[in-house]
Amino acid sequence: RHFVEFDNVCKYYQMGENRIAAADHVSFFIDKGEFCVIVGPSGAGKTTVLNMLGGMDGCDEGRIYLDGQEVSAYNQKQLTRYRRYDVGFVFQFYNLVQNLTALENVELANEISKEPLPAEQTLRQVGLEHRMDNFPAQLSGGEQQRVSIARALAKNPKILLCDEPTGALDYKTGKQVLALLQNTCRQTGRTVIVITHNSALTAMADRVIHIRNGQVAGVEVNENPTPVE
Ligand code: ADP
Ligand code: ADP
Repeated sequence: RHFVEFDNVCKYYQMGENRIAAADHVSFFIDKGEFCVIVGPSGAGKTTVLNMLGGMDGCDEGRIYLDGQEVSAYNQKQLTRYRRYDVGFVFQFYNLVQNLTALENVELANEISKEPLPAEQTLRQVGLEHRMDNFPAQLSGGEQQRVSIARALAKNPKILLCDEPTGALDYKTGKQVLALLQNTCRQTGRTVIVITHNSALTAMADRVIHIRNGQVAGVEVNENPTPVE
């Protein structure tokens, strides 16, 4: 098996009389250590795919695997453990605790982890050693997103799932955040998945999965992904 595998995964939502397929027989794989971008227009089903992989949403049909385990077969207790120990999440709007410092925000995450990395180490890794004692409101958007990446990394997860991590940032800051995610992937061998509606961001990925109308519309493998300049 591949590190990540979706095998004919379906997810339906009932909207009044209509049943819509947010995921319609989705199949793809991602290898360990890859920097993968999932791209598609708004409403295509990207978040649905990421939430199912992250154990936040169940699927109605098909199977989902991560690192040899079938995530789609987990019970509630196993899912809680999986979300807590195995998956790091990065969101568009950072989700930092406002009355805690950058360092405390990261420490909060590694308290609940099994084999956490030191908070100082991951904050250094994202270039924020000089900002550890600042509160989120004292940080720029790009810096807040880097704190949230440090927080996700401090859990020492098997995979990093990022839902529109640059969506709230200007173009230049967004590129810096992507460069950081790409470097994290290269330097630590951690598997990183980024979802975006911006097709300009796909050149840097090892693998690009195009999603449209709940389906995989195509997969590209870049032999020479361009580093973010
Ligand atoms: P994307 O992340 O690509 O913008 P989503 O995965 O959020 O797309 O949504 C895919 C489809 O599923 C959309 O049509 C959306 O309206 C629908 N959808 C997502 N979540 C729900 C929900 N909780 N209830 C009903 N429909 C939903
Ligand atoms: P970025 O390019 O990361 O978005 P900005 O240009 O917004 O950065 O901010 C530049 C610097 O100003 C950053 O180092 C940031 O920490 C600081 N800064 C931004 N907003 C605030 C604030 N509300 N209080 C204190 N410092 C701030």
